[in-house]
Amino acid sequence: MPLTAVAQQKIETTVPILVNYYGELDLKPCPDNLKELIYTILSHRTTKKNEQDAFKRMWEHWGGSWAAIQNAPVAEVVEDLSAVQFPERKAPYIQAVLKKIYDERGDYSIDFLSDIPTEQALEWLYTLPGVGIKTASLVLLFCFHRPLLPVDTHVHRVSTRIGILAPQTTPEVAHRDLLELIGDDPHRLYNFHFAFLRHGQRTCRFNSPRCEICPVKQYCDYYASLKSKTKGATAPEAPAPA
Ligand code: SF4
Repeated sequence: MPLTAVAQQKIETTVPILVNYYGELDLKPCPDNLKELIYTILSHRTTKKNEQDAFKRMWEHWGGSWAAIQNAPVAEVVEDLSAVQFPERKAPYIQAVLKKIYDERGDYSIDFLSDIPTEQALEWLYTLPGVGIKTASLVLLFCFHRPLLPVDTHVHRVSTRIGILAPQTTPEVAHRDLLELIGDDPHRLYNFHFAFLRHGQRTCRFNSPRCEICPVKQYCDYYASLKSKTKGATAPEAPAPA
C-alpha cells in the first residue's frame, strides 16, 4: 500500500509529542556489539529483566567465555536460559551464531560490520541462525548507528492504532514503510523506536489501552473509532420506519 500524506502528517505530529513525553535519548556506542546481538536474540517475547537474568546465568556458568558457551552441551545452555521464552530454540541458535562467527572471522566479534555498507551488513546478519529483520535492524541501529528501524510488536501496534500503518501490515512491510516515513537520521529513528516502544508497554497496551490519559489520542484512529462507537451506543434509537 502506498504511503500517504495522512501517515506522514501523523508521524510529524505524534513523534515529537511521544519523544517529549517519554524523554529524548542519546544514541551511544554499545559496550559490546556481540553481547548486544545475543541479548537481542534472547529478547524475543521476553522482559528485559528475564533477558538479562538469563544472559548473566549463561555467561557466569561458562566463565565469560564465548568458546565455552559455543561448545557447551546444549541442554545445559537451555537450562541457563530458562528465564526467557523458547530457551530450547534460543540456545541452539546462540551456539550456531557463535560457531558461524568464529568459523568465518576467526574471532568472537562482529565489529567488522562497522567497515561495510549497511545493505551488506544486513545481508550478513540475515545469514545467522535466528536473525531476522528486527534483530538485524536493532543491532545495526543501536551499535553501528546505521539508518534502520527495528519494529517490534509494540512499535507495530501503536503505529497501526494511530493510523500510521495500514491494518494487517506485515512486519517486513512495516520496517520498510516506517523507515521511509521517518527518514534516515539514526538519532530520530532511535528516539521513534523507544518512544513508541514505551508507549506500547505503558499506555497503548495490547489488551487495555489507556486512551483517556494518552497524549496523542486526538491524532489516533483507534481512539476516534472508539468515540464514534460510544456515541452510537448512547444515541437514541431511530424511529421504526412507518
Ligand atoms: S489513544 Fe489509545 S489506542 Fe490511540 S495511541 Fe493512545 S492509547 Fe493507543
